[in-house]
Amino acid sequence: MLVVMKHNASEEDISGVVGTIKEMGYDARPIPGGPRTAVGLVGNDGRADAGRLQGLSGVLEVIPVTQAYKQVSREWREEDTLVTLPNGTVIGGRDLVMMAGPCAVEGERQIIEVAHVVREMGATILRGGAFKPRTSPYSFQGLGLDGLRFLARAREESGMVVVTEALDPDGVDLVAEYADIIQIGARNMQNYPLLRRAGRSGKPVLLKRGMAATIEEWLLAAEYLLAEGNHDVILCERGVRSFAKHTRNLLDLAAIPVVRSLSHLPIIVDPSHGTGLRSKVIPMGRAAVAAGADGLMIEVHLDPPHAMSDGAQSLYPEQFGELMDQIRVIAKAIGRDVTAPLEAVSPV
Ligand code: PEP
Ligand code: MN
Repeated sequence: MLVVMKHNASEEDISGVVGTIKEMGYDARPIPGGPRTAVGLVGNDGRADAGRLQGLSGVLEVIPVTQAYKQVSREWREEDTLVTLPNGTVIGGRDLVMMAGPCAVEGERQIIEVAHVVREMGATILRGGAFKPRTSPYSFQGLGLDGLRFLARAREESGMVVVTEALDPDGVDLVAEYADIIQIGARNMQNYPLLRRAGRSGKPVLLKRGMAATIEEWLLAAEYLLAEGNHDVILCERGVRSFAKHTRNLLDLAAIPVVRSLSHLPIIVDPSHGTGLRSKVIPMGRAAVAAGADGLMIEVHLDPPHAMSDGAQSLYPEQFGELMDQIRVIAKAIGRDVTAPLEAVSPV
């Protein structure tokens, strides 16, 4: 951390900063330089609080030199993290992973049928919310425990693994009993008690980017999971809020190469919530793969006009098939492939 002093800072101001840095338990190195002095804080273990220095007399700005996150950083671990799931799907390797399914589990037959359909087209991970974080308290909130049970049936019958959301810390253990990956939604990215609990769940966690989160805040949220000992973390870009209204969110595809350079964690993209519009999901899914995403999460519904949530952004199955065909071509062009489809466990 570098504390840059104002050009008119006095000797007293400089020794005030040096004294505070020492009080904080670090070494202080004043660096005189032409019109202004800077003071280096040496030995930052990630705990040094810039706020303590920012307001001191004579301080112009405090510049972080090392990142606040540690274990999620590429500096901490150079090789890509691979998350291996019970059905053999590996997230973060050469092969892209496809997560697909409805926004919400709406019934047992519904989730089993859609699982068979998307599995046949090449998805190996089934998505579907049992606990739904809805903007309005009057909207469908999900089937809860029944939804989890139906997901488990769909997994048994399709051979897919299941990703589903945990909404609160107390719900983590229940979701962990049924899910192969615990999803933490955009609205909960900075719910620190939830992150800590998910970090101790023993299950991989899919961490969606908050709708107004910087990449640093997102990586620090992931750091909570790793700090609890959970290294199986998958990041999911799903768009952020913007001034513009042409899509539901602004899908930040530049986040893919940026995260890849800062972190070893796999990153997937959700163009369904990222755009909110069915007709925009395929082009942005293609773009995400071209930009280096490790996979996609796509909402697919057998009857989107009657979906209980997010019908407008849900693909019809044949559209999902089309997207799969196209990303196979794009993956090849960038030296990757798509995870091989699973064999059916039992007939449809
Ligand atoms: C979801 O994936 O069902 C969901 C609610 O997404 P997000 O948290 O990105 O809004
Ligand atoms: Mn949804």
